[in-house]
Amino acid sequence: MGKIIVVASGKGGTGKTTAAAAISSCLAVLEHKTLCIDFDTELRNLDLALCMTDFTVMDILDVLSGRVDLMAACSESPKIPNLFFLSAPAVCIPDDIGKPEIKAFFDEIRNNFDYCIIDAPAGVGKGFHLAYGDGEADMSIIVATGDLPSMRDAIHVADTIREMGIYDIRLVVNRVRPRNYKRIKTTIDDVIDTIGVQLLGVVPEDRNIFLALHENIPLVLYKKRHAAYDFLDIARRIAGDDIPLKQSKRL
Ligand code: ADP
Ligand code: MG
Repeated sequence: MGKIIVVASGKGGTGKTTAAAAISSCLAVLEHKTLCIDFDTELRNLDLALCMTDFTVMDILDVLSGRVDLMAACSESPKIPNLFFLSAPAVCIPDDIGKPEIKAFFDEIRNNFDYCIIDAPAGVGKGFHLAYGDGEADMSIIVATGDLPSMRDAIHVADTIREMGIYDIRLVVNRVRPRNYKRIKTTIDDVIDTIGVQLLGVVPEDRNIFLALHENIPLVLYKKRHAAYDFLDIARRIAGDDIPLKQSKRL
């Protein structure tokens, strides 16, 4: 049975979409059949991060409303074998789609994939709850930067996820600039303690993310250093490998 993992942040701009795309690509490179889904109906842009802008013909609403089968709606990446993508619709998900439809959707995904990474919308509204199937997801990754608004949102998002009955929650601290942390005498450990969620990985600020995106090359195939390596370590940890956390070395 596959595992459904929702990537969330509360605040926009922390690197949720970047992380969802990079982690999915890395799981696929590690030979796990992986589906990456954009649930951000209003601000969808996961296709860009996956370098799959030409593959947004079918979307989750086509599957949820029964118009198309899941596997017919998913597109396989031409650049990364084992990586599949399902786009968000351009319109909001209608009110008649609720928990039973999402549960059936998740069951179908679990039967067809090893992992499914869902890019949740920012905020904690209806779209956010739907992305978790109101508690049907297996795990959640919260992406936060070390800044105060991002940490406050991450605490709120973690509480909301727990209220849905999901307790396997991990933290990715993204866009880390060690110099800034040193300047305000803080550490990754302080960020973890503030948010109160177990660490899954630390990703530095890395201009290769910008360059890879603009050259339309998946990060994991672009330059195997910095953020690409950290996302690969994160994917390995998700898959159960014992990869030591390196946060203390960085700061
Ligand atoms: P979100 O989905 O949370 O709104 P995005 O993933 O779209 O955030 O990221 C916002 C911007 O930050 C994008 O331009 C992305 O390329 C950039 N970004 C994300 N993570 C990093 C990083 N570790 N280093 C440099 N740029 C990053
Ligand atoms: Mg996003």
